[in-house]
Amino acid sequence: MLDALFRPKAVAIVGASTKELSIGNVIIRNLQEYGYKGRIYPINPTAPDVRGIKAYKALDEIPGEVDLAHIIIPAKLVPQTIEDCGKKGVKAVVINSAGFSEMGEEGAKLQEAFLANAKKHGVRVFGPNCQGIINTDPALKAYCNFTFTFPEPGSVSVVALSGGVGALLMQGLFDLGVGMRMYASNGNACDISIPEILRYWADDAGCKAIVLYTEGFSDPKEFLDVAREVAARKPVLAMKAGRTEQGAKAASSHTGSLAGVDIATELIFGKTGILSFGDEEEMARAAMAFSTQPIPAGDRVGIITNTGGPAVIATDVLVAAGLDVPKLSEASIARLKETQFPQAALENPIDVVATAGGPQFRAALDVLLDEEGVDCIFMNFVTAPFTDTHAVAREIAAVSALGKKPIVCNFMTDLSQERYRITMRILKEGGVPCYANPTAAARALGALARYGRLKRRDIGRPETFPGVDAARAGSIVLQARKEGRSVLSAADVYTIFESYGIPVAGWSVVDHADGAVAAAEAIGYPVVVKVDSESIDHKSDMGGVAVDLKDADAVRSAVSGMQRRLGASGKLRFLVQRFLPGGRELIVGASASRGLGHLVMFGLGGIYVEVLKDVAFKIAPVTRVEAREMLASLKTKALLDGLRGEKGIDKEKAIDLILRVSQLLTDLPMIREMDLNPILAFENAVCAVDGRIRI
Ligand code: ADP
Ligand code: MG
Repeated sequence: MLDALFRPKAVAIVGASTKELSIGNVIIRNLQEYGYKGRIYPINPTAPDVRGIKAYKALDEIPGEVDLAHIIIPAKLVPQTIEDCGKKGVKAVVINSAGFSEMGEEGAKLQEAFLANAKKHGVRVFGPNCQGIINTDPALKAYCNFTFTFPEPGSVSVVALSGGVGALLMQGLFDLGVGMRMYASNGNACDISIPEILRYWADDAGCKAIVLYTEGFSDPKEFLDVAREVAARKPVLAMKAGRTEQGAKAASSHTGSLAGVDIATELIFGKTGILSFGDEEEMARAAMAFSTQPIPAGDRVGIITNTGGPAVIATDVLVAAGLDVPKLSEASIARLKETQFPQAALENPIDVVATAGGPQFRAALDVLLDEEGVDCIFMNFVTAPFTDTHAVAREIAAVSALGKKPIVCNFMTDLSQERYRITMRILKEGGVPCYANPTAAARALGALARYGRLKRRDIGRPETFPGVDAARAGSIVLQARKEGRSVLSAADVYTIFESYGIPVAGWSVVDHADGAVAAAEAIGYPVVVKVDSESIDHKSDMGGVAVDLKDADAVRSAVSGMQRRLGASGKLRFLVQRFLPGGRELIVGASASRGLGHLVMFGLGGIYVEVLKDVAFKIAPVTRVEAREMLASLKTKALLDGLRGEKGIDKEKAIDLILRVSQLLTDLPMIREMDLNPILAFENAVCAVDGRIRI
């Protein structure tokens, strides 16, 4: 439990300072000015008091109990201070001081030393090299942090490793007038981790939504498990930095170079139902909507506007965000006709026109509330000077307070005028999320709707196919490991595929021309001959692939050609394989991702992966729903369905293949990289013709 950290009844400040511009002074000032309801104990070896509060020379002189201690002293003194904290019975510390693992080896040793003392005494550590926490709960008002934004109490909690981004998000919410619940920025995060904080906030009834900023996770698997739990209970809005570079790298992967690219965090967001953002401002604006509005049950939006153009902009943005602007029912239109001015446009968007006042707005809102074909409401409200804007605002606020359907408002006005500031306040106090332009408002509603889709989607559970011979596949991998081979032979690879029911073209491995002819005859012409060597990655580049061989002579000459070109370093093996002309080339790849298991990639082969970088990733184990999403997310997905006379492919068989690969990867964690490139896909079959496994 993190109560000692987030709900401290008494805070000690080790390193309290009488110098106005020092962290040891600012932290006390923040506690005072924010109105902290608990006790403050400055620790200072010489000063009798700090900022008017009695100071103590050492922790053990403090008369009462201490839940939380700020530590703001040189790094080398921290291990001893943690020992002192342990003896005093301090339950948690926020180490603001820097100079630990972020500073190299010496600092890392100090970090280990204080952690050992903390473990010994059961003291939980927040930080080091961090800002701290804030709890806005009016009953506590704990500002254990050295930043400068004083958030209003509210229901959005913010966590960020980076103090700079944390402060940015906090200020962003503050500027929007969004109240905050708790705040945490934990720097090096050596003990109390983001997953632990998320779990704590999942149980915090006062927290309606969580905003998270991260640059990756030290234990991605732990985060995945916790995020799944937490995101099922309340909205988690998150942003991962470094996304463009990532995206570019990820897409340029020919699967081999896929490992080491951190696309994992984004994939974790997708798998666990975390709502991901690419822009911190957009995330803050979405948080405003999440803090007061319900989640839409569907994607159909009704628009009310008192000005034409902005409704057009909004419609474009809403549609781009996946929302639908449906026609209204006859009954709704009839009701509008009774209540609106004659000039009003009685369709969706409903243009109540600029002269509309409270009654017209309210009547239009009521129609949308009752309209079964509408799940959420978008408002354009320009403060026409000839109308009672307060009355309009009161009606919008009243409808928002009903909590029946989510509503956002693009509020277009001049806030330098007192009158419109009052109108704005009526909206805000009524919990209506207000934005300064149609695009921002539409994106915020888009985020609510996107979250609704995430909530409604059930990714299901991973399947296990019967009849899989996991033992045989496992023993092949173990044998290779024993022999020190990291790249498996063709025979190993195809046997493993067959053990998992992954369809492969008929094959045989031989080491001379006579054997190749015999194999070709058994398989049936035409065949393909490929060189099989650990040291050759791209066989066709080296002249190691001969396709469409129609008879024994062709097989012999292919084999002797390869022996001549590639055989310098010793005896070669050859894969003889059935030739399958005319298929669409697919690619499935996998790579181990640190601390997370495998990432699986799917795409169309050839130029589609190499030039268009059109690929989809998921974290294994992949469920059927996710496999389907992979196919559906390709830009070139139309090619899978067939186009202009070309036949489509058997998508269900492709999905099965992805799922079998996923099962294989789950059983064989020693696999570092795997490629099936290409898989040839036909109207009613798919078949792997090239495979590579590295362990
Ligand atoms: P590499 O990727 O090492 O160059 P592949 O085994 O993938 O070698 O073969 C290269 C290309 O030859 C494939 O991308 C595919 O277009 C074609 N090819 C390979 N095997 C077959 C096969 N059995 N049937 C039809 N075409 C094949
Ligand atoms: Mg290949």
